[in-house]
Order: sequence, then C-alpha cells, then structure tokens
Amino acid sequence: MKPAPFDYVAAQSVDHALTLLAGEVEAKLIAGGQSLMPLLNMRLGRTDLLIDIGHLEELNHIRIDEEGRLVIGASVTQADVQNHPDVLAGWPMLAAGIGEIGHPQIRNRGTICGSLAHNDPAAELPAIAMALDAVAEIHSVNGTRTVPVEDLFIGPFMTALAEDELLKQVVFPPQQEGAGWSFKEFATRPGDFATVGVAAQIALLGENVSDVKIVVFGVAGSALRLDATEASILGRPAERAIDIAVSELEMEIKPAEDIHSSHLFRKELAVELLKESIAEALERCL
Ligand SMILES: Cc1cc2nc3c(=O)[nH]c(=O)nc-3n(C[C@H](O)[C@H](O)[C@H](O)COP(=O)(O)OP(=O)(O)OC[C@H]3O[C@@H](n4cnc5c(N)ncnc54)[C@H](O)[C@@H]3O)c2cc1C
Repeated sequence: MKPAPFDYVAAQSVDHALTLLAGEVEAKLIAGGQSLMPLLNMRLGRTDLLIDIGHLEELNHIRIDEEGRLVIGASVTQADVQNHPDVLAGWPMLAAGIGEIGHPQIRNRGTICGSLAHNDPAAELPAIAMALDAVAEIHSVNGTRTVPVEDLFIGPFMTALAEDELLKQVVFPPQQEGAGWSFKEFATRPGDFATVGVAAQIALLGENVSDVKIVVFGVAGSALRLDATEASILGRPAERAIDIAVSELEMEIKPAEDIHSSHLFRKELAVELLKESIAEALERCL
C-alpha cells in the first residue's frame, strides 16, 4: 500500500522542528521511520506534514555528563548506542536489550527516543528505560520539561508527549555499583517482536536483597514496573528471592489474550523469564 499524501520538511534545527510542530498544519516528527513509515504505508495513521529530525547533528550525541549520567540525543540510532563503549561499560542492560530489537537493519535506522515516543507494548526500550530510571527531556516552543520515563508511558502506543512536543534526549543515571542486571525475552523467531520480556536489576547487602527493580513487558498496555513483586523480595534473603517473587508475580499481572498468545501462555512466560532474570541478576551481583 502507499501512504496518504503528505508534505515533507527536513528540519534545519530543533527550533525549526518545534516551530513547525506548533503550526496550524497537522504534523508528525520522523526520526528513524522504522515504526512511523509502516503505519503510514498501511494507512493505520496519517499526517499532513512529516518533520524529519533524523539527520540533526544537534541531536546526535551520546555523552556522559558532569554527574556521570548517560545522555542520548533524539537522532542517535539504536545501533550506535548498542556498540558504544561507555554504554557497554556503564549501562550493559541497555546494550543487551537493544541487541534483541528486530534486525541490524532496523537498529541502524531506528532511534532510542523514537522507540520511547512510539511506546509499543512489545518494545524493549520502554521497559529498559524504566528499569534504569531514565528521564525524558521534552521540548516545545513553550519551554522544556523533564519527566521520569515511568510517567511518559500511559498506554499502548500512547505517551504523555503533547502533539507539539519533541523528546530531545533521554538521560540514564549512573547505575548502582555492584548491582547485577538481567534482560530476558521470548520471541517466536529471532528478530520478531517479543511475546514477553523482563528487565531486572538487583543489589545485595550481605545475603539480603538491598535494592531491586523489575519491569515486565508484553503483559499489559505498556511496560509494567512490578512494585508488589519488588516489595516482596526487598530485604529478604537472596536465596529465597525467586520463590517469593514468583508467587507475588502470579497475583500482580493479568495479561490479556490476543491473536499472538493466550493470557495463560503470557503468564507462564513471565514466570519463567522472571525466574531466569532474577537468577542471572543475582549471579552478576558483586
Ligand atoms: C521489521 C521491523 C521489526 C521491528 N522489531 C522491533 C522489535 O523487536 N522491538 C522494538 O522495540 N521495535 C522494533 N521495531 C521498531 C523499531 O525499533 C523502531 O525503530 C522504533 O520503534 C522507533 O524508532 P524510530 O526512530 O524509527 O521512530 P519513527 O518511526 O521515526 O517514529 C515513531 C514515532 O515516534 C515519534 N517520534 C520519533 N522521534 C521522536 C522524538 N524525538 N520526539 C517525539 N516524538 C518522536 C514519531 O512521530 C512517531 O509517532 C521494528 C521495526 C520493523 C520495521
């Protein structure tokens, strides 16, 4: 199929993109185009104007700021982040999770910020950004605001971004020293969207769990932070963490049925992936 007609502008700067977004014409940003173009081509969406930000050098940065945070601009591709030495050293879960996104061709064009702005419930990056406590820096002609990514995701393919807003960069705080991490997912075939996935980060004090973050995706409209499951193992002995977490998880999630799998299959997958990810995160604790 072909998309409905639209105009195209390669933005000259972020300010130019923001001015166009705030104009009268119905407009959409395009970065890597790996989610938006299929939607337009299949006529599941339409727009009068595409504003291209994918080439903007002022958004093409991966840097560590003075507070040791990882800052990723909106035109940085997933492949650039996946292979970046600072990311591999300080945020290995991010690099590992990106490796599960589609195929290399997708990651060479698709951006980190584009995936967060798109918020596909089966996408890896919203879950990972939540598990790593990332913060979104959002710009419009009216100013700038920062939002914890947890508050950005409000439903399937829906975010708290207003129509005139641009996600300029995403900021990942330094990760706790000695914490172990794990990212696990199940997909029917390599490169397919995941059916279910889990991102976990655990720290120990002696034999007990002193900090824990667990996010699951593919079981709800958006990536889901497992607050009750986390609370159930916090302060408890690491050797009991898997058993306690599994019984809590079974009460905490209520996956829906769809054409890809039954709710029971999704629940079983979540349980198995949770077990594996807690075990792996504990093994990686220093
Ligand atoms: C065959 C195939 C397989 C794929 N497999 C996976 C997979 O396994 N896992 C996965 O997570 N994804 C997968 N994807 C999607 C891919 O990761 C996309 O790159 C990503 O979801 C969106 O990034 P993008 O830069 O391409 O965004 P675009 O397609 O350019 O934009 C997506 C949406 O975000 C908005 N947007 C983009 N950038 C910004 C910004 N800076 N501020 C505000 N709004 C913005 C756009 O207006 C649009 O609504 C797949 C895609 C394809 C085609």
